[in-house]
Amino acid sequence: MRKNTSKKRLDTIFSEFIRRRDANSEGFIRCISCGKVVHWGDSDCGHYINRRHNSTRYDEQNCNAQCRSCNRFDEGNIQGYRRGLIKKIGEKATDMLEVKKHNVCKMGQSEINLLADVYRKKLKEIKDKQG
Ligand SMILES: [Zn+2]
Repeated sequence: MRKNTSKKRLDTIFSEFIRRRDANSEGFIRCISCGKVVHWGDSDCGHYINRRHNSTRYDEQNCNAQCRSCNRFDEGNIQGYRRGLIKKIGEKATDMLEVKKHNVCKMGQSEINLLADVYRKKLKEIKDKQG
């Protein structure tokens, strides 16, 4: 039987995937909100729509590498985040996230396990590529 993954563990896997995804070949990310360049290991996975909304909590467009000062001390620097996100995915996709956040999303243990499996695989692929 498959072991249950905690939501906290899923967050950890997903966060590493997002930060590595956004890193360049040297391992550096550019903060989505302020443009500061930091190593992915020193960055956070920042949510555009607050992570308390399950419907966008694990949305790859809603989550981007962010410097810690924006994420932890500037409430995500949300105006900068919006500007950065529009540059990255366009205004329509950014506005769609605002709509999607209102979707009802019931996440049970089986959905958490499934997402964890998906992101373990995606993380492994990216790690293999980055070496
Ligand atoms: Zn920043």
